[in-house]
Amino acid sequence: MNEPAVREVARGVWVATARKYTTTTTIVAGSDGGCLLVDPAVSVADLAALAGWLGAHALRPVAGWSTHPHWDHLLWSAALGDAPRYATPRAVAAAAREEAGLIEGVTASAPGHDLTLFARVTALSGREIDWPGPRAVVLAHDAHAPGHGAVFLPDTGVLIAGDMCSDIEIPLPDLDTANPFGEYREGLGLLAEADAAVLVPGHGHVGDGPEFRRRVAADLAYLDAVAAGTDITDERLTEKWLRIEHARALARARAAR
Ligand SMILES: [Zn+2]
Repeated sequence: MNEPAVREVARGVWVATARKYTTTTTIVAGSDGGCLLVDPAVSVADLAALAGWLGAHALRPVAGWSTHPHWDHLLWSAALGDAPRYATPRAVAAAAREEAGLIEGVTASAPGHDLTLFARVTALSGREIDWPGPRAVVLAHDAHAPGHGAVFLPDTGVLIAGDMCSDIEIPLPDLDTANPFGEYREGLGLLAEADAAVLVPGHGHVGDGPEFRRRVAADLAYLDAVAAGTDITDERLTEKWLRIEHARALARARAAR
């Protein structure tokens, strides 16, 4: 079994990073060996390794959180137990609505998962995850995906940003909505209000407070340019799929003008 790359980023908060898409999983220790597990990912082997790591550290998931309804953030395995998994109400609705496409995505890109456990999320009522552990405040918005819920841990200043504020991916607005750039800016504004000392992006590398603010500024600069229909060079435009998404966003902005 692979030993996952796991690092403690704040007291009682660990981040595991999978090789595929540099995807992060966040583990937050609660009371009595319970933990909150955010976005466990990506491959069957990654999840098995994660379950092994948790067992070795005497941690057992008592709650799960899915930051947003994209297939790589809706995974689970039997070895992780049967804790309730939550997401925002809008994310739960989107996951149900788009189930066929999500299953297609996971089957094509990370085959072998137990699909009876896939995307089984319950709508969270309220603004905080109700679990026996440190406060976990949900910051819900519609940037990138419907009902995207970042999680802020005020006790440690950790912001689990989901697919925002990445150092390896440009902002990826949800182009299926009426106002993708406005909604993205709004979501980013909400995150920027958090007094984050540690930033955990869904894909990419963990950063500190100044790095968080640098990424917010870089994302705003990117959005301003693209929303205005202006091409921009961004150091994150390295991979072909990102350049394709960038071109799609630009075309969308230009068509709207
Ligand atoms: Zn995503």
